[in-house]
Amino acid sequence: MDVTHEGSSTMIFIDKISNTRMIMENALAGKFFKPCFHLNLKKSLVLQKKKGIGTSYKFCYPSKLKIHPPVSHTLNLSNLEVGGVEIQETSYEGLVSDQEIVWPSPDDEIPFWKRDFPSWNVNPEVPNESSVKDSDLMHIIHVTAEMAPIAKVGGLGDVVTGLARASLSRGHTVDIVLPFYECIQKQQINDLALISTYNSYHDGNWIPTNAYRGVVSGIPVIFIEPSNEFFKGQQVYGGSYNELEAYLFFSRACLEWMQVTGTQPDIIHVHEWQIGALPLLYWDMYRYLSLKKPRIVLTIHNMEHYGECRQEQLSKCGLDGSMYATAEKAVDDRTIGHNPERLSLLKGGIVYSNAVVTVSPTYLKETLCSGWLASTLMMHCDKYFGILNGIDTAMWNPATDVFLPAKFHAQKIEGKKLCKYYIQRGLGLAAKSITSSNHVPDATVKIPLVVCITRLVPQKGLHLITHALKHVEELGGQMIVLGKAPDGRVEGEFKHLADLVTSLRNCISIEEYNHNQGPSIRILLMYSEELSHMLYAAADMVLVPSMYEPCGLSQIIGMRYGSVPVVRKTGGLADTVFDMDDQSNPEIANGFVFEGIDEGSLNWALDRAFSYYRDKPVEWNGIVKKVIEIDNSWNNTAGKYIELYNSVRGRS
Ligand code: ADP
Repeated sequence: MDVTHEGSSTMIFIDKISNTRMIMENALAGKFFKPCFHLNLKKSLVLQKKKGIGTSYKFCYPSKLKIHPPVSHTLNLSNLEVGGVEIQETSYEGLVSDQEIVWPSPDDEIPFWKRDFPSWNVNPEVPNESSVKDSDLMHIIHVTAEMAPIAKVGGLGDVVTGLARASLSRGHTVDIVLPFYECIQKQQINDLALISTYNSYHDGNWIPTNAYRGVVSGIPVIFIEPSNEFFKGQQVYGGSYNELEAYLFFSRACLEWMQVTGTQPDIIHVHEWQIGALPLLYWDMYRYLSLKKPRIVLTIHNMEHYGECRQEQLSKCGLDGSMYATAEKAVDDRTIGHNPERLSLLKGGIVYSNAVVTVSPTYLKETLCSGWLASTLMMHCDKYFGILNGIDTAMWNPATDVFLPAKFHAQKIEGKKLCKYYIQRGLGLAAKSITSSNHVPDATVKIPLVVCITRLVPQKGLHLITHALKHVEELGGQMIVLGKAPDGRVEGEFKHLADLVTSLRNCISIEEYNHNQGPSIRILLMYSEELSHMLYAAADMVLVPSMYEPCGLSQIIGMRYGSVPVVRKTGGLADTVFDMDDQSNPEIANGFVFEGIDEGSLNWALDRAFSYYRDKPVEWNGIVKKVIEIDNSWNNTAGKYIELYNSVRGRS
């Protein structure tokens, strides 16, 4: 092993696997740095440059050491920290070599995103060495309809898991309570065990209910399983039971479980309309039983869904629905004077929670100015806050992501090119003639690749997504849409688009192909977590043309994987992406932004992005590195939630 010092960085030449242990031993003996180490047998092996202490390094030793020989034998310790996040020992495996890549093909019997991946994130240890530790510790229980990765439909699942892990790492006690959906990915739950059997009320009956406990991604999770038909089916939403009533039952069953087990958290953090009745049930029922301590925080991830509910439906959870049919409580203001008037669980949740959060400052402003809930939010504006979502940078990390055929980070970006070519080959976007060799052809990887990973719903700008497919093709680029449409008609339209027959004139003949087999477009109508990771890594640009977007994670994740965002200026997109051509604030410029909802506006942004990519490659590489290094982690924003929890604690 050779150790050399170059300026502030230390180079270690490793020739054998066992030498990694030797590095640790030498480091522990203080052989090559002024050591500032820390022995913790529970943690994974981490070489981490300590911030602000010159060349001191902190070493944590693993209990189960998994060492893989680095493909590049030279490790630059100055590179080990990416975007403020420590890179684990396994992370440099495959960073730069393509020798081990098994190149995929569209003809593979098992599609490449369904191959077996090394286990990862099944239960990654919650980072307990977060730079921030809070002194005043709390017990926080999240009550939610979604949680990544076991029951994720969109960003809600990511946010709950990311915020819970960030709060845990700051020292708090955190649990998540989730319905035990039949479709839940049980193989990702560790230590699953039945912890209590109790009865919870629904519609005049006490329903026998099981509570299980398990650990998911390092977070303790309580699963509520009623013995009736609720939460049965092959997907999180859209089962054949009454969804609204199922979540009313779930909201009460969570409080009932706390009541029967004597669990009194400081904070019950509820999410979205699904759990909107919990604050009502707490303040008007359970507080008069034995639950006294908790205070309620509601996060609204999307104001489009407000939990429309009839009075008699609300009564099914044991409250008197008619009591809430007033403008000050839960009536849907638009139905006042109609017969029947309707309630909104989201409005009730806003009124009855101690604090209400939405997921970006700009969306907060937008919701105070438009939409029927604006007047309620204005009335409660002293307890209404905009806190930008973060992402879990351990789960979304291109330097360690097991789904990527090659890893990369801002200082070693070559792996990104391999990821792109992998996708191009796997989806048949690379010319057939060159796919037999392992050579990565420059001409193919130079074609600009745009991805759009989204639920296919009107909010996401469906007309702009379909237009982008056409325009990117005209610009000579490639575009992949990975999306699931809950509405059959939308799915049909995208299927139709995928099957459209196009003619391609080459020098000798006219070739006909349908879009999804041609050289530039792929429309993949499905949900795949694995493929989404690969696409973020492969893309040059990530497109988010939403009509409105409370926060948006797709652009944030895309940036973490070096994909430059092209977004419409709305909600959280306006808070996270800043135009490259806006001269007023060049330091924060990180993407391409358009304002209009028309095709011309989108063209303008795409045209500029393509020109940058093609005409200014050096600048483009600079943007790619810059976006990878932007810190949109929960480390940045979880503290705002903790401050908020503290401010409502103990308040009546
Ligand atoms: P929303 O919550 O409105 O769906 P966000 O951008 O906040 O939008 O979050 C979307 C999350 O869901 C991201 O993690 C994105 O990668 C993921 N996602 C969306 N559609 C798919 C899909 N078809 N396959 C895999 N992941 C998807």
